[in-house]
Amino acid sequence: MRQIAIYGKGGIGKSTTTQNLTAGLAELGKKIMVVGCDPKADSTRLLLNGLAQRTVLDTLREEGEVDDLSQIERVGFGGIRCVESGGPEPGVGCAGRGIITSIGMLEDLGAYTDDLDYVFYDVLGDVVCGGFAMPIREGKAKEIYIVASGEMMALYAANNICKGIQKYALKGGVRLGGIICNSRKVDRENELLREFAKELGSQLIYFVPRDNEVQRAEIKKKTVIDHDPKHPQAQEYRNLALAIENNEQFVIPKPMTQERLEEILIEFGLMDSIKDNYHI
Ligand code: ADP
Ligand code: MG
Repeated sequence: MRQIAIYGKGGIGKSTTTQNLTAGLAELGKKIMVVGCDPKADSTRLLLNGLAQRTVLDTLREEGEVDDLSQIERVGFGGIRCVESGGPEPGVGCAGRGIITSIGMLEDLGAYTDDLDYVFYDVLGDVVCGGFAMPIREGKAKEIYIVASGEMMALYAANNICKGIQKYALKGGVRLGGIICNSRKVDRENELLREFAKELGSQLIYFVPRDNEVQRAEIKKKTVIDHDPKHPQAQEYRNLALAIENNEQFVIPKPMTQERLEEILIEFGLMDSIKDNYHI
C-alpha cells in the first residue's frame, strides 16, 4: 500500500489534481482511498459527483461517536473510497485537529485494508506543521508530491513545504516523489519548474496543462476522466497517474534559501514581471 500526501499552496489545484489522477489510477484497476484533509471538505466532490458527504468531525459532533466505517466513508468513481476530515466551526479551534481525529478513527475502524493499493491525503495549504503534518509525521504517508505552478507565490509555498518535509524526512522515512506542475500558462513554465525541482534535488514528475475542460467537468461535479473520457485533458491525468505509478525517485528535498529562489525567479523573468506590475 502506497500512502501519498499532496501538498501545495491553497487554490493551486491539489484537490482537482488528486481526484483526476486517482480516477486515472482507478481506471488501471487500482484500489484507492482518498482522505480529504482540508476543512473545506471538497477533496472528494468530483469523485462522489457532489454527493453531500458528512465529514468525520461533523459526524462526531452530530452522532457523538462513530463505530462503523459506513458513517464516514462513501464510495465514488471507480470504487474509490472517500473520506473528508472536515474542520472545526470557522474561527474555533485548530483545523489540524480534524486530520488527527480522522486518521486515528480510520485506523480504529480498520479502514486501512490490505487490498488497498493507494491512500491519498489531500492536505490544505502551505503549512507542514501541527495537524497538517499528521499524514507524514506519524509515518502514514511516506511519499509526497507538491503541486506548484510558475507563479512566484506557488514556488515560495513549495519551497517552504520542502523545509517542513526535510525536518520529518530526517527523522522518519518520508520522501518527496516530485513536483507536479499545474500550469498557469506562465512563460517558460515547464523549464522553470524543471529547474526549481532540480534545485530541490527532486524532479518535475508531470506538467498538467491548464484547460477549461477541468471547469466544465467541475460544474458537472465530475473529474475530466468521468465527464469526457476521450478529452485530451483526460489523457493528461492518465499520464500523471502512470508517472506516479512508475515513479522510482524519492528524495529528501533540499529547500533553497530565499536568495537562491529569487535568483531563479529573476533568471526566468518572474521578478521583472512583478516589477512591471508594481511599477518599481
Ligand atoms: P486546491 O485544492 O489546491 O485549493 P483546487 O483543486 O480546488 O485547489 O483548484 C482550484 C481551482 O482551479 C478549481 O476551481 C479548478 O477548477 C481550477 N483548476 C485546477 N486545475 C486546473 C487545470 N489544470 N486547468 C484548469 N483549471 C484548473
Ligand atoms: Mg483543495
